[in-house]
Amino acid sequence: MNYNRVYNFSAGPSVLPESVLEKAAAEMMNYNQSGQSVMEMSHRSKVYQGIIDNTEKLLREIMNIPDNYEVLFLQGGASTQFAMVPLNLGSKNKKADFVITGQWAKKAYKEASRYLDANVVASSEDQTFSYIPQLDESSFSKDADFFHICLNNTIYGTKFSELPNTADVPLVADISSCILSEPIDVSKFGLLYAGAQKNMAPAGVTVVIVRKDLIGNAFDFTPTMLNYKTHSDNGSMFNTPPCYCIYMCGLVLEWIKENFGGLEEMKKYNEEKANILYDYLDNSKMFKGTVRKDSRSLMNIPFVTGDSDLDAKFVAEATKNGFVNLKGHRSVGGMRASVYNAMPIEGVKKLVEFMKEFEKNN
Ligand SMILES: *Cc1c(COP(=O)(O)O)cnc(C)c1O
Repeated sequence: MNYNRVYNFSAGPSVLPESVLEKAAAEMMNYNQSGQSVMEMSHRSKVYQGIIDNTEKLLREIMNIPDNYEVLFLQGGASTQFAMVPLNLGSKNKKADFVITGQWAKKAYKEASRYLDANVVASSEDQTFSYIPQLDESSFSKDADFFHICLNNTIYGTKFSELPNTADVPLVADISSCILSEPIDVSKFGLLYAGAQKNMAPAGVTVVIVRKDLIGNAFDFTPTMLNYKTHSDNGSMFNTPPCYCIYMCGLVLEWIKENFGGLEEMKKYNEEKANILYDYLDNSKMFKGTVRKDSRSLMNIPFVTGDSDLDAKFVAEATKNGFVNLKGHRSVGGMRASVYNAMPIEGVKKLVEFMKEFEKNN
């Protein structure tokens, strides 16, 4: 069906699979013969319990989450995790290590500094976060309660291709903009968290995957709602969860399973898409990528012409032609194409055709 939709390259909230939106629309008025919309039903009902259980089951299956990890569906966005992580994991030695690879990583570091001794082991701020810094293990704090990284840096378009070896110190990662984009070995982490609105669902739910032994050690002053134990003891239903977003997340997971089988194939598709744009950027005389090649993200691809007036002209003409939300983050300028799971490969191919045309005419 033709809905007259644009190609949406927004960094978040971002594009969702069309078939997921169609399914949600079809089920809007009467979900599975319940006579209600998922938006309207009690979160304590049997029907809703089925929905949240199914979402968790699919997430565990697709991400291959080991049994000794809890999956929590919370609110407050990834930003609330900047406080929850130190409050819950940092009470022992009151110390944690951080790698500063962008604004989100920096915010996590700053928030943690309010509760504990936060130590910066490396930063790429000297070059506008355009690369992932080399890490020197000898600079890691042996007695840290956790080690925090932002695995994929949404604004700058960088991604860790190798994980730091933190030995017994639990590795914590913000995976908001790369969750479900490729396989990830959950067992290498103490905790993973992601706001859903990049690659998983509409805004409103935050997924936390946490090793069970890390739950239950929060600072005494931790608010009840910010304690992981509150949510793990209550199946993410201590209070009303973001019901509809969890349902949508389930539909997106089903879409991955049905169309790709799992994250290996999802990754191949994402690589194919990203490479179309990177290959063009590497050969264009007008556009160029802003990220060092060894640090490139699969999901967020920033680029510039080197002339801010030309950038603005490109963004305006792209918008007119149905390629929207390509304006780069204000701290980088230029353009950024976010090519999350739900961006179809035709969208990237057509964008590159449009860029070639623009290059020829300008
Ligand atoms: C978008 C984003 C955030 C912020 O998420 P909210 O849900 O808005 O709090 C944090 N970290 C990363 C990597 C992001 O991409």
